[in-house]
Amino acid sequence: MILDHIDDENRFRDALRAWLPDALSGRPERGADEDHVAHDGRVQAWWLGVLRTQKLATPHWPKEYGGVALPFRLRAIMTEELVRVDAPTPMRYMISFNHLPATLIPWGSEEQKRKYLPEIAEEGMIWCQGFSEPGAGSDLAGLRTRAVRDGDHYVLNGQKIWSSFSVFARRSIVLARTDPDAQKHAGISFFLVDLETPGIEIRPIRQINGGAKFGEIFFTDARVPVADRVGEEGMGWKIAQSTLASERGLLWFEAAEKLHRRLDGLLVQAAREGADWPADAEMRRCYTELRARAHGMRLFLREMMYGPPVDGAEELIRTAAFKVAFSTFRMDLMSFLVRLDTPDAYQVGNTEDDYLGGAMFSYLTGYSGMFGAGTNEIMKNIIAERGLGLPKG
Ligand SMILES: Cc1cc2nc3c(=O)[nH]c(=O)nc-3n(C[C@H](O)[C@H](O)[C@H](O)COP(=O)(O)OP(=O)(O)OC[C@H]3O[C@@H](n4cnc5c(N)ncnc54)[C@H](O)[C@@H]3O)c2cc1C
Repeated sequence: MILDHIDDENRFRDALRAWLPDALSGRPERGADEDHVAHDGRVQAWWLGVLRTQKLATPHWPKEYGGVALPFRLRAIMTEELVRVDAPTPMRYMISFNHLPATLIPWGSEEQKRKYLPEIAEEGMIWCQGFSEPGAGSDLAGLRTRAVRDGDHYVLNGQKIWSSFSVFARRSIVLARTDPDAQKHAGISFFLVDLETPGIEIRPIRQINGGAKFGEIFFTDARVPVADRVGEEGMGWKIAQSTLASERGLLWFEAAEKLHRRLDGLLVQAAREGADWPADAEMRRCYTELRARAHGMRLFLREMMYGPPVDGAEELIRTAAFKVAFSTFRMDLMSFLVRLDTPDAYQVGNTEDDYLGGAMFSYLTGYSGMFGAGTNEIMKNIIAERGLGLPKG
């Protein structure tokens, strides 16, 4: 078992490297009539099953809920090694693996943790996140979905939007207003919702990149048990801060490794295909600059993760700065890919992985990086107001 080597980082890495080629050899091929969405789903579920044989599907979780409490550094090594061999990323399980445990472990009841976490670790339950609404994105606390107490249930009415992976999900975390008269941050509660509850409808949103992983969620008198409220009524805003913080950190670590690897591969690909762009001084200059930025991103992340801890306010400013730098780097890299004018420059919708796929798909997807996890303008507000002490507005 790879986990027999957790006392030594080098041996852990070596054990992973030795295991991966064989583990990946059974990767399902795309069937002749299979669209990429079905194929992506099959590959992701297959890969989770393979990771499970080594107890590596949810390695960072506490042991009592289906993890092995893998130390952070080993998790980073695992990410480096998986990216190095292009192992599939279980994108659809992002909320299940990150946002849900990041919320339930500090805030959930013991019963909620035992009910909802092992089913992810053992069966791969897919969750989504129903926070944003039309009119409540950056101003999330302005959300209007209502949850009205009725005996041992709440009755939900309202609409969510931009809910990633909701078209594949069975469950959702949901913020809803339980007290419309309270100050706006105080009147919100946090719920765990079974999407098969009568009165819930999910409508896919077609994206510019050809995909449709987002959905709108409509609630019409949907009854959610009180037992599925996380924390006390009115504490939803505070609890949601734990959820939102999990959108950063190691998720970016993996993305930065992927983009770095992608850049690395461009020169090899150019040599193989006899492309002429490396001989063009302007293109070479762009490439070199991108390489330097990629390297900077990776160093920045390692400093954030392994460097001395900073207090909450500084952490917020640092992650805001990283988010702006990373999303603009990503966009510049994707623009560069399109300029290379390779055959895939014209393909859209050919993968679910935001960081891979054809050049045009990556380029169109890159824009979402400026909005997801808080828009870049909101990040700049944080830097200006909290970091530099500038006045609001
Ligand atoms: C890839 C991706 C995945 C997402 N996944 C989810 C998900 O799973 N669940 C979920 O609930 N939501 C999700 N979202 C939604 C995301 O949280 C919102 O898009 C984001 O909060 C912005 O909200 P909005 O789209 O309503 O834009 P708005 O808030 O309406 O903003 C519109 C524009 O106005 C600017 N703006 C707004 N307020 C200010 C201000 N105070 N100062 C300066 N500029 C301002 C913004 O920067 C933006 O450019 C996702 C979004 C993306 C792109």
